[in-house]
Amino acid sequence: MTSSSKQLANTHVAAMSAYTPGLQPTEPGWVKLNTNELPVPPSPRVVEAIQSELAEGGKRLRLYPNPNSAPLRAAVAAHHGLAADNVLIGNGADDVLNLLLRTFCGPDKPAAMTVPSYSLYAVLANAQNAPMLEVTFDRSMALPGDAIAQCPAKLFLLTSPNAPTGVGFSPKDIGDIAKSFEGILAVDETYAPFSGQDCVGLLKEHPNLVIVRSFSKAFALAGLRVGYALASQEIIGLLDRVRDSYNVDRLAQAGALAALGDTDYYANVIADTVVMRDKMASWYESLGWFVYPSVANYHFVEPVSRRGERGLAVATSLYEFLREQKVLVRAFPKHALTESFLRISLGSETEMETLQKVIRDWVAA
Ligand SMILES: *Cc1c(COP(=O)(O)O)cnc(C)c1O
Repeated sequence: MTSSSKQLANTHVAAMSAYTPGLQPTEPGWVKLNTNELPVPPSPRVVEAIQSELAEGGKRLRLYPNPNSAPLRAAVAAHHGLAADNVLIGNGADDVLNLLLRTFCGPDKPAAMTVPSYSLYAVLANAQNAPMLEVTFDRSMALPGDAIAQCPAKLFLLTSPNAPTGVGFSPKDIGDIAKSFEGILAVDETYAPFSGQDCVGLLKEHPNLVIVRSFSKAFALAGLRVGYALASQEIIGLLDRVRDSYNVDRLAQAGALAALGDTDYYANVIADTVVMRDKMASWYESLGWFVYPSVANYHFVEPVSRRGERGLAVATSLYEFLREQKVLVRAFPKHALTESFLRISLGSETEMETLQKVIRDWVAA
């Protein structure tokens, strides 16, 4: 072999970097508030469903799973009042996002995203050698609707509620964008179940709209890897062409289906999250910190030091202090709009008490 594998690789792949996921420590003892997982287990029905899928020594595992996740598609469709051919199931929302980029973007078909939002989008565009256009928020983090509507991209990825800010956008404003935007508008509604509103009702009116959902956050199933897209039959048909034929495994299909059936359990989980969200927002504010109004399961907070300073150095100091005390949060040091902030997930009551104690120690130090 005379060429290095890097020389043999597609030029754009050789030039790109991988997504950096939030740290997933393997040893116990961490208070993990960095990737917006729920602090509670999924519905007990999930475990039952997975156990029955594993019955008789797991003999069903020798068979491929349903290639279309058909029972789960039907259940998701019913859950949203849509038809099964308006639904595509993915191996996590990330798989759905990747299918969108593979279907609609390429070297002469740019994608677009807001800054800040979910940084994986740019990695997925890089993998397709597609340009990524950016619409930047101002400090208010209010929706820059006109800039999005006029953006010359084939696919716009809009996160609502937004990450990392937690700010939600009104379905009416998103509908207005969908109406004038020339490309496909994908709304990443991973956190919508926490927000009390969503864009599902807009689908009938806007054939260029795609809604992306996840079981990872609001269903406490990040370990199972299930997400889905809601869209017109035509868009779903296109995404299905590039999807792996067995993209969702048997256990994941069974578990997600069971989760979707336990509406009472998840209604309680969401209600508890909202109570904790209000409580923590007030607490951050009581420290004199700025916090964006969150409709998700995390807060984007701007810490203030004992001397009244804020900024990158202050956020970094708190991030590191928390980490030394085994509390993990997420920092976004690469952009002026985000560098002075930390994103902190909502955890259990005990985890929030630990967080508060460590933050008080940092303020006092
Ligand atoms: C967590 C997250 C995802 C990923 O969802 P998976 O279903 O775990 O792949 C997608 N979008 C946003 C905005 C997220 O925060």
